[in-house]
Amino acid sequence: MYCIDESVLKMIPSDSMSCNFKVEGRRHTVMLEVVKVGYGDRRYFVCPCCGKKRTILYYINHGFKCRDCGHFNPYKKIQNGTKGGSSEIQYRMERYAKKNNIEIVRFPFNYMDYIQDERLMKKGKDSFRMKLKVLQALENMRFQTIMMKKTFSNQAIRKVISEKHPILQKVSLKDMTMIWYDWESDSGKGFTIPASHNRVSQLTKDAMKGI
Ligand SMILES: [Zn+2]
Repeated sequence: MYCIDESVLKMIPSDSMSCNFKVEGRRHTVMLEVVKVGYGDRRYFVCPCCGKKRTILYYINHGFKCRDCGHFNPYKKIQNGTKGGSSEIQYRMERYAKKNNIEIVRFPFNYMDYIQDERLMKKGKDSFRMKLKVLQALENMRFQTIMMKKTFSNQAIRKVISEKHPILQKVSLKDMTMIWYDWESDSGKGFTIPASHNRVSQLTKDAMKGI
């Protein structure tokens, strides 16, 4: 098993808000959060699962997770999590994915992991593309709950899961990876994800410690 810890953090440029790791041929993005302490700044990894600040993340089951999320119990998390927050949205993503026979290989969810899936070729009302759109939309919400400390109403989440949210028709899969939409309204208004959240530094698996 691999982990990333403070020795890895030191290798990341001090103005980066995220870092990338290439593991198993896939790129994994981990967000960073800065906390002001008396004499300067302290940086943490943001757990891609729960959004909590962590000094160590483990590579478990194809993705980075904190210790708590490594022993994954969605029911427990949903009880402890904020209503409409990241844990609940993640739980609903996993449930939706399972129901539709889609394996979420990592968080943050990225539709690009499924472009080879032959189900994408099938057109029609109940299309695989729409399933990916729902998951990418939920990821868009989840990312906002983590980075902006936002929560979403049950109504907005359900509208996405039922595939009826008008924004799903208005925007593309790619748009949803670049723009934060206001899912509480139907307008499709949003704003570009701040560049600082997309700025990345490259680190390879060599930077991680085997444990
Ligand atoms: Zn976690």
